[in-house]
Amino acid sequence: MLEIAAIKRARGLAGYDAKREEEMLQTLTSSSSGPFGPADVKEIFKTIFRASLDLQNLERRKGMRVLSPDLVPESGFLVGDVPIGGPEPVLFVGPCSVETAEQIEAIAEFVARIPGPKILRAGAFKPRTNPYTFQGLREEGMRLLRDAADRHGLVVVTEVLDTATVDVVAEHADMLQIGARNMYNTELLKAVGRVGKPVLLKRAFMATLEELLLSAEYILAGGNDRVVLCERGIRTFERTTRFTLDIAAVPLLKQEVSLPVIVDLSHALGRKDIMLPCAKAALAVGANGLMIEIHNRPDQALSDGFQQFDLKEFAVFLDNLGHHAATVPEPALGGRNG
Ligand code: PEP
Ligand code: MN
Repeated sequence: MLEIAAIKRARGLAGYDAKREEEMLQTLTSSSSGPFGPADVKEIFKTIFRASLDLQNLERRKGMRVLSPDLVPESGFLVGDVPIGGPEPVLFVGPCSVETAEQIEAIAEFVARIPGPKILRAGAFKPRTNPYTFQGLREEGMRLLRDAADRHGLVVVTEVLDTATVDVVAEHADMLQIGARNMYNTELLKAVGRVGKPVLLKRAFMATLEELLLSAEYILAGGNDRVVLCERGIRTFERTTRFTLDIAAVPLLKQEVSLPVIVDLSHALGRKDIMLPCAKAALAVGANGLMIEIHNRPDQALSDGFQQFDLKEFAVFLDNLGHHAATVPEPALGGRNG
């Protein structure tokens, strides 16, 4: 069957052509002189045809770059100078949005003192559900984020919302984030596939894992192999968490691909009280990193204030997680950091 498919491909014929299949069926049923009537012949033909298509799809899937086992080495790959996908999990921490120079400076200063691999996250271009809420500082936010990161030697990830701003985001960020709302934006996926910077690809609210992998395939097909997959919760009937954290996604993805997989706990849960056990669960099932939103003044945050740890809370959280416990930083005293 695969040979037939190969011959069809070589002759430029489609794998499936409704008119051609119908004509073949007609010829078969009209020339059948054996014990089977036309209905039986039709049934047998359709079964063979379905099996052949399934086989072709399986073959095509095997050829996907995202499934190559040697895409990422054991030691992971670099985002700036931070290895991800290797033995040590990476913390993706920072505010939901860049808001002011003082805010991002206070948070960057704190993040820089967290031991171990970490990446500063913050949105400048924000994909808000409500058009009347804070939409991000855009280019100005990108500059503030880059400056604060540079002052503290940090690597940054930030979201790119559309193809028009890929260049400006790629110029300032070390890693480009494709948000959940854009996982299906194939033009944007192609555009970040052409950029020489790693990409953090978030799973859409309603996406299957297969769809997430196909979106990653778009980026890889463009020539960019440095893709990190992010489980950030999916939409279910459950209302006690903001989304439903699909913890099984982590081992399932890791069974299929060698790309690093991280878990965004803040957006999945939308609450802080169960962040610690869920973080432990994510690490226990093999997550290569955790994304958590933190803010120096969550009560004054312009977006997602309710789910962001303040700096003290986050230090306690890390301590409880057993993250290099002895050296978890105290937030700087005074100012707006309290
Ligand atoms: C974010 O990380 O800032 C964000 C908007 O997340 P998501 O795309 O997962 O909703
Ligand atoms: Mn947020």
